[in-house]
Amino acid sequence: MKGEGQILKDFKLRETISRSAILKMFLRKPFALSYTDIETEVESEFDRVTVYRTLKTFVDKGVVHKVLDDGGGLKYALCNSLCNIAEHHHEHVHFKCTICEQTSCLEDVNIPEITLPSGYLPKEMNLLIQGKCPKCAKTMV
Ligand SMILES: [Zn+2]
Ligand SMILES: [Zn+2]
Ligand SMILES: [Zn+2]
Repeated sequence: MKGEGQILKDFKLRETISRSAILKMFLRKPFALSYTDIETEVESEFDRVTVYRTLKTFVDKGVVHKVLDDGGGLKYALCNSLCNIAEHHHEHVHFKCTICEQTSCLEDVNIPEITLPSGYLPKEMNLLIQGKCPKCAKTMV
């Protein structure tokens, strides 16, 4: 897996302390993070505005993608190796575990093709499946 320095370079982003630190967080955690998760972890180092701006840059440049959570919440997940500065592939399913509340990208599971009534022009698709993740399913039986 690429380190944070290489990712920033690939996306033509200047390396700053906040970008490196927040990107490192995403690399450390294999699940999607909410704004609050990120802020709580780095609040001793950076102020709100810095966290907000860094995250916005990551979304704009395509380093991370948005993950719609239940209840209208929003999370962010690191883009996989298929995404680069020019091209993005986010038609994968997201899974939220109702026990540990972690949302993960199921990058190998694509959202099935959906035919819409005429006149509707789709722009983005999001599919969130909720249930138990393998870890929780194992400990719950
Ligand atoms: Zn992407
Ligand atoms: Zn779980
Ligand atoms: Zn995802």
